[in-house]
Amino acid sequence: MGREKISLKTDAEILLMREAGLITAKALAAVKAAIVPGISTLELDAIAEKTIIDLSAKSNFKLVAGYHHTVCASINDEVVHGIPSKDRILAAGDLISIDCGAITPAGWNGDAAFSYLVPGGDVAISAKRQALSDACESSLWAGIAALASAVRLNEVGRAVEKSVRNSGRYGILQDYIGHGVGRSMHEDPAVFNYQTRDLGPVVETGLVIAIEPMITAGSEKVQILADEWTISTKDGQDASHWEHTVALHSGGIWVLTAEDGGEAGLAKYGVKPVPLNP
Ligand code: MG
Ligand code: MG
Repeated sequence: MGREKISLKTDAEILLMREAGLITAKALAAVKAAIVPGISTLELDAIAEKTIIDLSAKSNFKLVAGYHHTVCASINDEVVHGIPSKDRILAAGDLISIDCGAITPAGWNGDAAFSYLVPGGDVAISAKRQALSDACESSLWAGIAALASAVRLNEVGRAVEKSVRNSGRYGILQDYIGHGVGRSMHEDPAVFNYQTRDLGPVVETGLVIAIEPMITAGSEKVQILADEWTISTKDGQDASHWEHTVALHSGGIWVLTAEDGGEAGLAKYGVKPVPLNP
């Protein structure tokens, strides 16, 4: 955790980033609405791509060297970076995580992810998977809420970790973390999902970061599959991934990739997001 080059954004730039955030949110909502048993992850990818293009933006995942899709679609023991495929057909009870991002014509990025249980599976397995996804989602909101009043950035990681520990015996990935977002999808600073010895950079107005906890039902140990992208758990247990792009502007916190700006997710933490007015 040496010197990081954090590019702080002005309120005007954050307003432009909101456009990228909303387009990302709409693409994810369209994918979520399409998830049914029998659909392939490639079909979900096409839905995300069409949504982004119809909103005059582009997929920023496609700008990542060597990646040719609009979303990452990771099923069950896959944590992140699953490649969409016509051969990956969703079954009832699968736990699917979709990660997606958009870049606007003005060059600003959004990045967000959700996990979702494909309806209709075995009741006991589904309950366990839903609890895992809920624990991951809660930890995301705990981290976002912590950012609202954080002095040092790792207060976010501490809050994420605490929330995960309070939810159950889950693993937290160590080598995959959140990041700054701006003109690039991945910028400084590193945003850990756990407490670090270094408290991290001082949190300043204009910080825009992707907070993205990745947790597992068993060990936190992961492996890269033969496709050289997909990250799966070593022990074969399930995993979940949730992510939002979040801005701190002159008036407060704003979840750029949530259609409601983070209102519902932050309510239980007594934090009220503050939308900027154009
Ligand atoms: Mg992402
Ligand atoms: Mg990200």
